[in-house]
Amino acid sequence: MRCRHCGAEVSLPVIDLGSAPPSNAYLKAEDLNAPEVWFPLRVLVCEACWLVQTEDFAGREDLFSADYAYLSSISATWRAHVDAYAGAMTPKLGLTADSLVVEIAANDGILLECFQKRGIPVLGVEPTGFAAARARERGLQIIESFFGRCLAAQMRADGIGADLIAANNVLAHVPDINDFTSGIAELLKPDGVATFEFPHLLNLIGETQFDTIYHEHFSYLSLAVAERVLAANGLQVFDVEELPTHGGSLRVFAQRRDTGKRTVADRVEAVKARERDAGLEHPDTYRNFQVRADRIKDDLVAFLIGERRSGRTVAAYGAAAKGNTLLNYAGVRPDLVSFVVDRNPLKQGQFLPGSRIPILAEDAIVTRKPGTILILPWNIAGEIIRNTSHIADWGGRFALAVPELKLFPAGERSV
Ligand SMILES: [Zn+2]
Repeated sequence: MRCRHCGAEVSLPVIDLGSAPPSNAYLKAEDLNAPEVWFPLRVLVCEACWLVQTEDFAGREDLFSADYAYLSSISATWRAHVDAYAGAMTPKLGLTADSLVVEIAANDGILLECFQKRGIPVLGVEPTGFAAARARERGLQIIESFFGRCLAAQMRADGIGADLIAANNVLAHVPDINDFTSGIAELLKPDGVATFEFPHLLNLIGETQFDTIYHEHFSYLSLAVAERVLAANGLQVFDVEELPTHGGSLRVFAQRRDTGKRTVADRVEAVKARERDAGLEHPDTYRNFQVRADRIKDDLVAFLIGERRSGRTVAAYGAAAKGNTLLNYAGVRPDLVSFVVDRNPLKQGQFLPGSRIPILAEDAIVTRKPGTILILPWNIAGEIIRNTSHIADWGGRFALAVPELKLFPAGERSV
């Protein structure tokens, strides 16, 4: 295939996860009698520009349907994260009632609401109908569309220009990364700032976070590659922050290359130096990733079989995308993980794609008293352990599979 950024032929494999249904294609009871659509899930790296990317196979319309069930506001950790973002950006950029904050992939509007309550005008762009409707219920104005250069030009023609564009946890999700980033440059006012948050490739490779790979994630970015992609599309990186979210993310600050006047912070070079030291632009770095992922998979399957043989029921916590990658790659089915609980009422009563494990409300933990809870979204493990400590009442314990299998009894809060 051709590289999504530079167009060179891409052939160096990073990992082959077999095939899987789209991570958010949850199944209703009646769907269980019908076949599911599975797509190949392979990741390659371009040796010309070093963009790590999923192999092309299908259009995004298959992945982001109107009933796409992800809602940002479900996680308390995430709510605190976006409020801190609004609290930091408002004084940093001097945002006022005369400014405009635009969020791309605004989801249910939880981030924009944090600016709105500070008196700053906001506008959201969100392609999924369900999330857009929830954002409108918060009183937010939403353009229901995918974002790219064409929409940006239309918005500019309508007199819209942004002082701040928040494109947080969306850059990795766009199939046409050049069209998306050039649209950002188009929509910014001359001295406007765009921020991009994405899971840091350095952690994906270093911590073997292969479960963060799924079809909706087209790109896996380092700072060096993000800077290269942005520069080719009219944007200059001038600062970066490292965040604990999603197992280690970057927040990259960019301005227009033609009109931006901010000086480049030293920490941009510092992060790129660490990426160079880790060999992110060297083919050998990618060659043993599959072996390490396979070891994690094998350890999990052996553990689950052992639990079943010893008569312990295993439940999972968190019907999230990264769990689906892990469960489907490991071939786990309801015989090994009886059910999964999730706080999102939209997912409850449905089944995980591929593994077809039933999704129940959290109170199923109390009624069914599983011996082990496998925490799938390890990035919010601390929050889950605090909220589920009552499994200690019946000797329950927690398990994490990534970056290595780890067991600990309820009450131990070392995560
Ligand atoms: Zn390339």
